[in-house]
Amino acid sequence: MKLGLFGGSFNPVTLGHLLVAQAAREEQGLSRIFFIPAAQSPFKPDAAPAPAAARLQLLRLALAGRTDCEIDEQEIRRGGVSYTIDTVRDFRRRFPGAELFCIIGADHAATLPQWREAEELARLVEFLVIPRPGEAGAALPAPFRGQALKGFPLGVSASQVRARVKADLPVDLLVGSAVAEAIRNNRLYL
Ligand code: ATP
Repeated sequence: MKLGLFGGSFNPVTLGHLLVAQAAREEQGLSRIFFIPAAQSPFKPDAAPAPAAARLQLLRLALAGRTDCEIDEQEIRRGGVSYTIDTVRDFRRRFPGAELFCIIGADHAATLPQWREAEELARLVEFLVIPRPGEAGAALPAPFRGQALKGFPLGVSASQVRARVKADLPVDLLVGSAVAEAIRNNRLYL
């Protein structure tokens, strides 16, 4: 069994995230992908994301009917700063025989040596790097293992979505109509 672990702030989830998951699943033959929203990213210490309940609701809408994708709430439940090593250890315990792949965008590849317990993380899991327009570095720094995928390069970011909502511009084509409607109804990112 090959499992994809896709962590992020998902503040909000965008069609870019969904295409990342689709590329990882198709190119690697993953059987399941877990979307794992962070309580607080270690790399975004000054930026409190929208409340976890709101980000989870948007994820549920975005993934409705997707039987190959599920939401894992462990980082939200733990609270505080979310570290991938803790999450990977939990998956190792729950799925002892599975091959685990952490899915990341190309903008994150160069930062891996700064992740908590980097050496141990590199030992426990492989990385799948998805191209991101404007980001050259898809290469994995040693000792990390894994590969760069072809993906569906799409230059959409969550910060761009938040900026557009604030500027009263439509985001339907960046996040899908259900997520866009929920952002409007819940008055998020104003
Ligand atoms: P922000 O704009 O707020 O910094 P983000 O769009 O990068 O957020 P995150 O939730 O922080 O979204 O990203 C989670 C993971 O998804 C990261 O590994 C990131 O690199 C990757 N990712 C997000 N959007 C894309 C995209 N359009 N293409 C490739 N990877 C992406």
